[in-house]
Amino acid sequence: MLSLGKILLLLAVGAAVWLGYRVHKRIESVRARHEDELNRLRSQALKPKAEMVECSRCGIYVAGTQPCGRRDCLFLSR
Ligand SMILES: [Zn+2]
Repeated sequence: MLSLGKILLLLAVGAAVWLGYRVHKRIESVRARHEDELNRLRSQALKPKAEMVECSRCGIYVAGTQPCGRRDCLFLSR
């Protein structure tokens, strides 16, 4: 048998859970927006000026099909 006090307590708990959920969702959405912005800035910063290819021999990045300049470079042996 539910007393009035128990009903009020249940309502209070429900409201608290609901409020916590709302706050949680809000924080998540704000964080997600910040992550998107960060990722966008990061990818912009990392985006090379020209089309860059990692040299498979020495691991450095070179523009297009330019050889990286090392004597043992795969680009040079082509
Ligand atoms: Zn190379």
